[in-house]
Amino acid sequence: MACLFHKWEGCKCLKCGKIRDEQHNWNGCMCTTCDIRRDEKHDWNAYRCKKCGKTRDLSENDILNITDQNILIDIAHNYKNIKLKVMAAEKLIDQTISQKIYADIAKYSKSFFGDFGSMHMIERLTDQNLILDIAQNCIYYEAREHAAGMLTDQDALKKVAETNTAYWVRKVAAKKLIDQEYAQNIYFEIARNGHNSYTRINAGIEMLTDRVLLLKIANGGDEFLCEELVEEERFLPGITDMHGIRSSVYTEKRRQTIDLRSIAQQRLTLLFG
Ligand SMILES: [Zn+2]
Ligand SMILES: [Zn+2]
Ligand SMILES: [Zn+2]
Repeated sequence: MACLFHKWEGCKCLKCGKIRDEQHNWNGCMCTTCDIRRDEKHDWNAYRCKKCGKTRDLSENDILNITDQNILIDIAHNYKNIKLKVMAAEKLIDQTISQKIYADIAKYSKSFFGDFGSMHMIERLTDQNLILDIAQNCIYYEAREHAAGMLTDQDALKKVAETNTAYWVRKVAAKKLIDQEYAQNIYFEIARNGHNSYTRINAGIEMLTDRVLLLKIANGGDEFLCEELVEEERFLPGITDMHGIRSSVYTEKRRQTIDLRSIAQQRLTLLFG
């Protein structure tokens, strides 16, 4: 029910509860009577107003001056600028939190190179579990390979060598296994199942020194015939432009079969005569 004559106390009518936009009871950026806000006198907790949640930009200097660990954790987790996030993470006493933040940036970074790209972030990692996670799951192939090379934990290396979706990452991990006899099985697996002949030869057969496994390939069946589509650039014969330059190029695709058995045989001869 609207009043004929409001009875104002500050911004609110005591009788009907109507709010007017004057005489607010300001406490910083908010009125304590109604919930109206103003863009001044915020109560900054580093970059976020404690009262209304508004955020502001921070500078590198701001980060250098903050010592409160909870604020630094908030910035490291949530601030939008990666450089400042990392600066805040570096100041954390609990470096296990920093490690997680570096790993997250590495895993989801929009770029691989650059100061805050995956590569540099990976190099900050010492936690073997976080490195393992990158080796197995990062969107960048190069980052997976690089992370695999940073692993020393033998269980983690075994897992990567056995289950990574990229055969070249498997090879990197297999090379770091102390149990090199076991690593031979990984190379054999790559020689048998790799995506193409280049991988099957270079990350597989060329890594094998085990005579029995090499013989298995040399005496194997069709599974060691590698059929591939090769693309070759060719010039159209007889067609030249006004300067006499042959400009018409087309790509020819042809099927090619590479016999991995003979490559294994060559390696056997090389190693064992
Ligand atoms: Zn009223
Ligand atoms: Zn008010
Ligand atoms: Zn505020």
